[in-house]
Amino acid sequence: MTETTSLVGLSPDELKTALIAAGVPEKSAAMRTRQLWNWMYVHGARDFAAMTNLAKDFRAQMAGRLSLARPEIVTEQISSDGTRKWLLRSGGQEFETVFIPEPGRGTLCVSSQVGCTLNCRFCHTGTQKLVRNLTPAEIVGQVLVARDSLGDWPSTGENRRVTNVVMMGMGEPLYNFENVKAALAIVADGDALALSRRRVTLSTAGVVPMIKRAGEEIGSALAISLHAVRDEIRDVIVPLNKKYPLKELLDACRNYPGVSNARRITFEYVMLKGVNDSLADARQLVKVIAGIPAKINLIPFNPWPGAPYECSEWGQIEKFAEIVNRAGYASPVRTPRGRDIMAACGQLKSESIKQRASERMAQMRSAELARMPS
Ligand code: SAH
Repeated sequence: MTETTSLVGLSPDELKTALIAAGVPEKSAAMRTRQLWNWMYVHGARDFAAMTNLAKDFRAQMAGRLSLARPEIVTEQISSDGTRKWLLRSGGQEFETVFIPEPGRGTLCVSSQVGCTLNCRFCHTGTQKLVRNLTPAEIVGQVLVARDSLGDWPSTGENRRVTNVVMMGMGEPLYNFENVKAALAIVADGDALALSRRRVTLSTAGVVPMIKRAGEEIGSALAISLHAVRDEIRDVIVPLNKKYPLKELLDACRNYPGVSNARRITFEYVMLKGVNDSLADARQLVKVIAGIPAKINLIPFNPWPGAPYECSEWGQIEKFAEIVNRAGYASPVRTPRGRDIMAACGQLKSESIKQRASERMAQMRSAELARMPS
């Protein structure tokens, strides 16, 4: 069998080039590109056979050379609260995607990298050794797989289930800028996955030099993983702060292209007991973000095995939230979702490395047994 190239994740220009390379005459290439774009991203076609309004010969010719393959689903887990987590495999690597249903909306939490280089002290993904950037196909593929599993086609449907995408899975999206940008262009395209840029949020730990470009070239909503409001503390829990300290980060937020009261920046703040949760921290928080159109998201810390922190006491979170509220910020405390399937914030990390090790152990043991005289 000859290898087929997947068209998922290509820009319209790249798609056109791929079609011409597969034998589509130049004069019909623009039309074919539009047709395929619509089938792939509005209707979620998984193969050419599904494209019933296109000539049979054309479909057969394409199917021999091209594919619409998505990442392979390794496992799908469904939490008691309806949250779903998929472990996906592509190019020999594994990564995770989470769907969080809420009344009237559904948010898909998408990964940008396998693993992460940032090593935030409270984040599980940072303990994973392997790191590689995901390709546009793998990023867009996460949305396709979720919509396939949820039966959520066409993407323009009135009651669609995936209404929002947040780049808050594994990895730092601003360290994979070009691929994230290419993928989000397809996610936000009204003729493709059709989520407007306002429904797409890019979350960063604070890669300051890329923030302006993100605003100009991607144009999504911005979330900042702030987590501390004094450099001494932020240096420890988000080590990237040593490179790009708070003042620079907050200046970049003030100047984020398009920021306004209608398009506020979300500041994420994970509540770590005795580390960043004092009432003085709360007062400092409202002080440092003064003047930035902002929302504040307080996230109860989600523990994982071996984590060096604990979640703040509930009463402390409430007192902290009250100070933030009184300063005029809505500060929803984000309820942890999908805890039973390790799908909550910061818990994404492929378990497969561990699993493979135990599979190897099992194989060794059975080989040993086979060698023993019976
Ligand atoms: N690198 C990007 C994208 C990851 S987003 C960023 O840092 O923004 C994942 C969000 O979950 C971030 O706000 C992260 O700080 C937060 N998070 C990570 N580990 C967590 C944990 N154990 N409990 C709660 N939130 C966590």
